[in-house]
Amino acid sequence: SLARVYKDACEKRPQEYWDYEQGVTIEWGKISNHEIVNKIGRGKYSEVFSGKSVTNNQPCVIKVLKPVKMKKIYRELKILTNLTGGPNVIGLLDIVQDPGSKIPALIFEEVKNVDFRTLYPTFKLSDIQYYFTQLLIALDYCHSMGIMHRDVKPQNVMIDPNERKLRLIDWGLAEFYHPGVHYNVRVASRYHKGPELLVNLNQYDYSLDLWSVGCMLAAIIFKKEPFFKGSTNADQLVKIAAVLGTKELLSYLNKYSLKLPSEYDNIMRDFTRKPWSHFITSETNLAVPEIVDLIDNLLRYDHQERLTAKEAMNHKFFKMECE
Ligand code: ATP
Repeated sequence: SLARVYKDACEKRPQEYWDYEQGVTIEWGKISNHEIVNKIGRGKYSEVFSGKSVTNNQPCVIKVLKPVKMKKIYRELKILTNLTGGPNVIGLLDIVQDPGSKIPALIFEEVKNVDFRTLYPTFKLSDIQYYFTQLLIALDYCHSMGIMHRDVKPQNVMIDPNERKLRLIDWGLAEFYHPGVHYNVRVASRYHKGPELLVNLNQYDYSLDLWSVGCMLAAIIFKKEPFFKGSTNADQLVKIAAVLGTKELLSYLNKYSLKLPSEYDNIMRDFTRKPWSHFITSETNLAVPEIVDLIDNLLRYDHQERLTAKEAMNHKFFKMECE
């Protein structure tokens, strides 16, 4: 199956735009222009520091990559240089190289992020409208540029509530979309993995990112973080089926001529689809019909049925007048 939108976003651009395997010409900056201040995080693929630019004292974030395949490093660099400057995409300020190890470090604009576990519980409907519009703008932009993010989750959406600034970070798993290509299904973090990844449907596309957005929204409005909390990848699909139904899962598989992989033989059960009203509790006044309808149109097994980023932005939820 093919993407419903932006199918030819890469093909219509020159090969240098999307081809990261031929090597990438990198304009290396001067490492001495940036100073490390504090360690702020360590990811699977990097160590991240806060820093400042020696030339103008501006704060920045320094992401020192771990030694992984050069191909993966080139991919992240290519994607970042293609997207930097785009709306709500983290700004890449410089690329430098450690003189000893030769390992690249990426210098980014700093976002004074408030952790989502603190921030999201404070959201009113108007905040959800605002920040999810900003996230969808970033996603529509990268999709229009032929790029799927493939790791959308709260940890990768930096929000500075004082400036009302949102930036999509961590392009380390992002990939160029080419129609008909089979992609690795071992992407995204478990709780935000789309069904296509869990049933080994490897001809997926940008619509994967919209599933992850649906998971983020559902977690916020139903006060259940994360919304689908699998204990393993296989259990993740079980948790999804417990909500969306097992019969519905099988008809999705059938549409794409797939069978439920054998790892589910002993763990999948026959769940009936739960209505969204099942998740509405007295703890939340956020679950208005418009947002529930938006979630219903994002959390679809069939990736071709999900709203695109543009369609989601134009959903009636975003047109509601909220205080
Ligand atoms: P992971 O293994 O979690 O996917 P990673 O190695 O790919 O991580 P990033 O996700 O890019 O690295 O960054 C790790 C963490 O550093 C982020 O979750 C965030 O907390 C912090 N961070 C990264 N970039 C910025 C930024 N520009 N501004 C503020 N904080 C940032």
